[in-house]
Amino acid sequence: MYNRVYNFAAGPSQLSLDVLEEISKDLFNYQGTGMSVMEMSHRSKTYLKIFEETKATIKEVMNIPDNYEIIFMQGGATEQFSAIPLNLAPNAKADYIVTGSFAKKAAKEAAKFVDVNIACDVGPDYKRIPKQDELNLRKDADYVYICANNTIYGTEYQDYPDTGDIPLVADMSSDICSKKIDVSKFGLIYAGCQKNMGIAGLSFVIVRKDLIGKHRENMPVLMEYDTQVNGDSMYNTPNTFAIYVLGLVAKWIKKLGGLEAMEKRNKEKAKILYDILDNSDFYIGHADKDSRSMMNVTFNLPTEELEAKFVAEAKKEGMESLKGHRSVGGIRASIYNAMELEGIEKLAAFMKKFEEENR
Ligand code: PMP
Repeated sequence: MYNRVYNFAAGPSQLSLDVLEEISKDLFNYQGTGMSVMEMSHRSKTYLKIFEETKATIKEVMNIPDNYEIIFMQGGATEQFSAIPLNLAPNAKADYIVTGSFAKKAAKEAAKFVDVNIACDVGPDYKRIPKQDELNLRKDADYVYICANNTIYGTEYQDYPDTGDIPLVADMSSDICSKKIDVSKFGLIYAGCQKNMGIAGLSFVIVRKDLIGKHRENMPVLMEYDTQVNGDSMYNTPNTFAIYVLGLVAKWIKKLGGLEAMEKRNKEKAKILYDILDNSDFYIGHADKDSRSMMNVTFNLPTEELEAKFVAEAKKEGMESLKGHRSVGGIRASIYNAMELEGIEKLAAFMKKFEEENR
């Protein structure tokens, strides 16, 4: 009806049609207010209701315990690379597990402010997630940092590291809400919202209450988690529209059956593509089997020319943005929550046909 493509971009990425239709229905006149959400004061009664509902719905969907705060910030996931060491390291010591570019960037940023120990680095090819016995964790670290899903390389933690009493901090930008997780195992979880939680310009942070208020002195006020918590993420004007979209996405997840249903659906979707990789010597998967991401499926073809042809022909058939990240090349199919099964089936059929025609 809308002549839409299947968008396999890594983020910003596809939104569900249900959410887009809801937005378009509200766009000119939100529930009889005579204005759109974009035009509304963040202090208005109508907006505060949207805000509270968003928080409550995401809390319910992710089963976030009461001893955690939810914070909305605006500097993307990258802002948290700085905010985390500034807020959570009273002893100025943090351990980083490097499984890809974003964990590496986070560690580099943290090293400006605290003593960073690289507990493990699985580079340079970043095909896997390390095992517990490979981690060189310090007993006196303030936190242990991981990137839960490596968007560029297509690897993902299946089991999270055991860090004992030391808070585990996770960048879940590319797999948040894709599966059920036990929030209580983490000190802090954060995500940029532009993949599984809506649109760009909003970052979502969940932090355990006892970790708040230990930030260093003289830091940028907007980066202080306690300022954000005390002002309920409205110390200054928040990204009102992105928060509203997050609320719609959370309701959509709930309607589909919550995170258990989402996980089942995502497993089925990923399996279709990984089965093709496993039964082909034309497509070579990047990630080790036990470290595969359910969200970003990365692979190579025999030559770069064939990869370019693959991307171009897929585009002609209505499948967008299959080119791998500029730093690694190859193909990447990002198949976040909003990618429908039909999109995966279409890609799978295309892959089989392309292999037959080009092997
Ligand atoms: N972490 C991960 C896992 C990502 O995938 C990304 C971006 N794709 C980032 C961090 C950086 O996000 P942002 O552009 O919102 O700063």
